[in-house]
Amino acid sequence: MLTKGGSTQGSGGGLGIYVHIPFCVKKCAYCDFLSFGGRKHGEHSAYAAALLREIRIKADVYAGRYTVDSVFFGGGTPSCIDAGLLARIMEGLKASFRFAPSCEATIEANPGTVDARKLEAYLRAGINRLSMGVQSTSARTLALLGRIHGRQAFLEAYGLARAAGFKNINFDLMFAVPGQSEGEWAECLEEAISLRPEHISFYSLQIEEGTEIYDRCHAGELAPADEAVDRRMYHRALAILEKNAYFRYEISNACRKGFECRHNLKYWSMQDYLGLGLGAHSFLEGVRIGGIEDLAAYLVAAQEGDYECERHANTESDNISEAMFLGLRRAAGLSGEEFRAATGKGLYETFGAQLEKLAAAGLLEADRPLGAGTGSGDDAGGGSTQPQGRGDARPQGSTQPQGRGDARPQGSTQPQGRDGCAAKGAGRDGAGAGDGDGLRVWLTPKGIDISNTVFLEFM
Ligand code: SF4
Repeated sequence: MLTKGGSTQGSGGGLGIYVHIPFCVKKCAYCDFLSFGGRKHGEHSAYAAALLREIRIKADVYAGRYTVDSVFFGGGTPSCIDAGLLARIMEGLKASFRFAPSCEATIEANPGTVDARKLEAYLRAGINRLSMGVQSTSARTLALLGRIHGRQAFLEAYGLARAAGFKNINFDLMFAVPGQSEGEWAECLEEAISLRPEHISFYSLQIEEGTEIYDRCHAGELAPADEAVDRRMYHRALAILEKNAYFRYEISNACRKGFECRHNLKYWSMQDYLGLGLGAHSFLEGVRIGGIEDLAAYLVAAQEGDYECERHANTESDNISEAMFLGLRRAAGLSGEEFRAATGKGLYETFGAQLEKLAAAGLLEADRPLGAGTGSGDDAGGGSTQPQGRGDARPQGSTQPQGRGDARPQGSTQPQGRDGCAAKGAGRDGAGAGDGDGLRVWLTPKGIDISNTVFLEFM
């Protein structure tokens, strides 16, 4: 149960805060996110006022339980609203919650919406990481995607961000766009890498019903990239990133050492996060909460419960599935200790048969031979090669996961678990040899290619 004010029920650990800003200059041709184009400054101000109210209400419940160590302004296009409004929201958060001195605060920015004044204002407000929605450097692809910026605007915005003082910058890039050749994708990624951003997210275009691109594909005007091309583009990206010393720490995210996105690692390691704003999702003390999606209702909401459209207390079975499909998104994979912290159970005793089957099919690897004796906690030796980034991975993604089951966002650090139970905590009593502690598993490249099918084994 939620209780107000300084309860000791929280994890006591670090909290991530996601703030949704649902405004954009205009809707992109592929976008089905909860966002609105063409709204005026007055509506942005009203929304910021409503957000500040929500911050106070939620802080009354949660502030005493956590220290905030990551903030993520996503959208939408947070950079399309006045920088003064964003600074007020940051001030509201800092006045209401306890912040870790090293808090990572990210803002998503469309290159077509920033200037030097805005970028400097973000830094003054404590926003120290910039996630740029670059998507492509090709004029044709940017036009097809309906982006408001061109290649030159991106290069100028990046230069301004570095000049302002941003030392941690992500580029979101997109592949498998209709008409995009493999060569064009490789050229785009290489140009992006030449600028040496700290982090690169690379996603294949998902063609969603209700979008302009969907309609154009449906009408036969555009041809979606086929699966084989999509996979070739993905593996080409991995090779280019590796050659340039970017290590992949999650299926779609790579970075220079030490620049994993802290916020998104929380999603993939089942750590607590609080969503604020329209449609924002939270995961708090084992409960997934979906935020209200109606803007008019959001603007007048005034109580804790008014902001929710769904609430689901994770069952044991939810935790078991989520620990697997979120953890296996990370290049470092999932350890028996992490699994036990999230579920109270042994990894091998829960999924031994599935792990063996997947390993036999070349879809998954483990750091020791699977089979009798696995996970004794003693070093069984042998095993296969280490996954890339193993042991170093700490974590982004652009937007919030859409709720239960949608894995988009690690950490070599142990997830804190529901009650602050660290790896050596929950369920360890009586846990003996063969329970999977000491074991680590991760997906092979072949497994990544059919990850959704692999994840079904753990549902
Ligand atoms: S893709 Fe991003 S910038 Fe484009 S409409 Fe959607 S939220 Fe806005």
